[in-house]
Amino acid sequence: MLKLYNTLTKQVEEFVPLNPQNVGMYICGPTVYDYFHIGNARTFIMADIIRRYLEYKGYNVKFVMNLTDIDDKIIKKSIEEKVPASDVAKKYSEAFFEDIKRLRIKPATIYPRATENIAEILSMIKALIDNGAAYNVDGNVFYNVSSFKQYGKLSGKRIDELEVGARVEVMEEKQNPLDFALWKKSKEGEPYWKSEWGNGRPGWHIECSAMSCKHLGETFDIHAGGNDLIFPHHENEIAQSEAATKKPFVKYWLHFGFLNINKEKMSKSLGNFFTARDVLAKYSAEAIRLFFSQAHYRGPVDFNNDLLDSAEKGLEKLKNLRSTIESAVNKNKSGGVDPGFNFQDFEKRFKDALDDDFNIPQAVAVIFDFVKEANRTISDKDNLQLNYYLALKDFLIKTADNVLGIISFEHKEMKSDSLLENELIKILIDVRLKAKNEKNFQLADDIRKKLESFGITLKDTKEGTEFFKRD
Ligand SMILES: [Zn+2]
Repeated sequence: MLKLYNTLTKQVEEFVPLNPQNVGMYICGPTVYDYFHIGNARTFIMADIIRRYLEYKGYNVKFVMNLTDIDDKIIKKSIEEKVPASDVAKKYSEAFFEDIKRLRIKPATIYPRATENIAEILSMIKALIDNGAAYNVDGNVFYNVSSFKQYGKLSGKRIDELEVGARVEVMEEKQNPLDFALWKKSKEGEPYWKSEWGNGRPGWHIECSAMSCKHLGETFDIHAGGNDLIFPHHENEIAQSEAATKKPFVKYWLHFGFLNINKEKMSKSLGNFFTARDVLAKYSAEAIRLFFSQAHYRGPVDFNNDLLDSAEKGLEKLKNLRSTIESAVNKNKSGGVDPGFNFQDFEKRFKDALDDDFNIPQAVAVIFDFVKEANRTISDKDNLQLNYYLALKDFLIKTADNVLGIISFEHKEMKSDSLLENELIKILIDVRLKAKNEKNFQLADDIRKKLESFGITLKDTKEGTEFFKRD
């Protein structure tokens, strides 16, 4: 039985999804104005391991991660770099997809983008105005925090205390300093979308409410994110969604702890700011994942090179066992003895650890105990049967590879195959585009359908055609 700590109730609870087989999970994705940092990488990796463990348990997980592709930060960067905001968003979304792939993060079921869901966002804002939870002041629409009596239930903050502490803001048109923007009137030269309140763009919080509702329904199982998002972002998401739908928004809220660098807060001004790319240039994805897996997801993590070095070293033990297994499997000898290894016990310990509020460090310890025990049996007897090695491999694939992602049994060969596959898909996308330009829609559609039959979905966006592979 899986138990998890729910930030909403501040208790460890039994996990009972709304539907016994299917789990809906949402995680706040990046604002694509820069490369994501190593603290974000921690959040994405932890959410990835939790999602993979739910799949290991047999759940069919619909994993939704949004991309904020219009925002003040994106507009600021576009002005600095003198390029359209959409170019900034395109560049850093591509970088985001490259980086999560290199970190071995399993692709989400869907990555909705704010700019592609304006209609859904507008209709939620409209519902909030109709319900008396939002008001329009000259083209800016604000959420009326005092209309939502349960405001603060996630973060434990109280409206009256917040009001006292709230800094006096310049935006005098707000009725209350805690009110936040749902729709921002566009300034001269800024990108905008049309709405009944005038030209503007969505606020950040409303995006997540509208897109999670669209893809996971009005109420869904798990919403995850970094601790720093509890307030105000997640608190505001609850206020928006529940005021618009009049239904509970999320059953379980999961939050990941902070990351410090050498016991200091990571910041650009302190010169200790690392992007995931910076770290991937020096360390393997497996070492980064192992390093993060050694701390509880809710607790803080202190990040430094020595710890990464020792994670890289720790992986050697796993890799050595993998080589031993692979060479025994390649020899494919018949006969031999069965050492009577207790696989079930290790599997149970692995599950017990993760069922206990995703105790990932404990699950890692089980894997290293397993490695030790396997090495002991191998050095004791030199005539072990092939089935034993296959069972070792099977266990490691199911746990260390498929759930934790700290070792891969499809290394090297698989990598070059999938690179080639991606290049071939890109060629087909180009051919399809040419066919479309020549109005040969039959051929263009055939290419799309054929790729679909191989589990490759094409998606036409403003920036071109993207593809997604189903696993
Ligand atoms: Zn969000």
